[in-house]
Amino acid sequence: MIIRRVKSIRVLGVRVDAVDTEETLERIEELLRSGGHHLVATVNPEFVMRARRDPEFHRVLESAGLCLPDGWGVTWAARRQGQPLPERVTGVDLIPALAARAADRGWRLFFLGAGPGVAEVAAEQLRMRFPSLIVAGCHSGEAGPLGDEVSLGMIAEAHPDIVLVAYGAPLQELWIVRNLERLQAGVGIGVGGAFDYLSGKVPRAPAWLRRLGLEWLYRLARQPWRARRMAVLPVFALEVLRSRA
Ligand code: UDP
Repeated sequence: MIIRRVKSIRVLGVRVDAVDTEETLERIEELLRSGGHHLVATVNPEFVMRARRDPEFHRVLESAGLCLPDGWGVTWAARRQGQPLPERVTGVDLIPALAARAADRGWRLFFLGAGPGVAEVAAEQLRMRFPSLIVAGCHSGEAGPLGDEVSLGMIAEAHPDIVLVAYGAPLQELWIVRNLERLQAGVGIGVGGAFDYLSGKVPRAPAWLRRLGLEWLYRLARQPWRARRMAVLPVFALEVLRSRA
């Protein structure tokens, strides 16, 4: 089956697909029907900066079935380039929409990653909202290759259509690409801290702060260890301001 190409833009040379939530769900459906195995990544400025210095990660994003416009910085950069994106599609916002679609279509989900027990609570919360949703399995597992055999065994037993992987970038994307062929699921989505939010383990920034594009500041205030990772954000902003398109 031929998979339609989605419209993509480049932010500092890194691929971002111009899709909204509805198009994302349609594209995921198409990827599932195609019969192959596909990565779905949620691209934020940290991804962009990593892909610029890490050719392997750059290739991983190029090969993805979808590169969703996640971080506010990415949509800002796109607007500045005169290529506005339809909306932000973050992992944590996508999951309930995906769960609704999965419940309707009978797609089976598997939740991999996050701290012990966290994915189970996230799955339970989603099942309360979408009673016919099938979360076929949850496993905290290990992000590195040493945990692959156990995780793949559990996933194989659960027969999911979609595996959501919460190990943070780039571990989750590398996990998916490393195991893509052996993963008996059509789509693997890297979802970062989404299970932490959905389970209520970590509170999400209030909507008004998110609207102002200040979610990162809230996360930094609550989790100061993020400062090191976020050090790339001013560099990202400067490079975008310097770039012509
Ligand atoms: N995580 C994990 N194993 C690891 C590293 C991370 O399970 O070896 C989980 C962590 O518990 C969290 C998620 O991966 O649930 C990453 O969350 P983070 O908020 O850092 O991701 P972001 O949303 O910023 O990409």
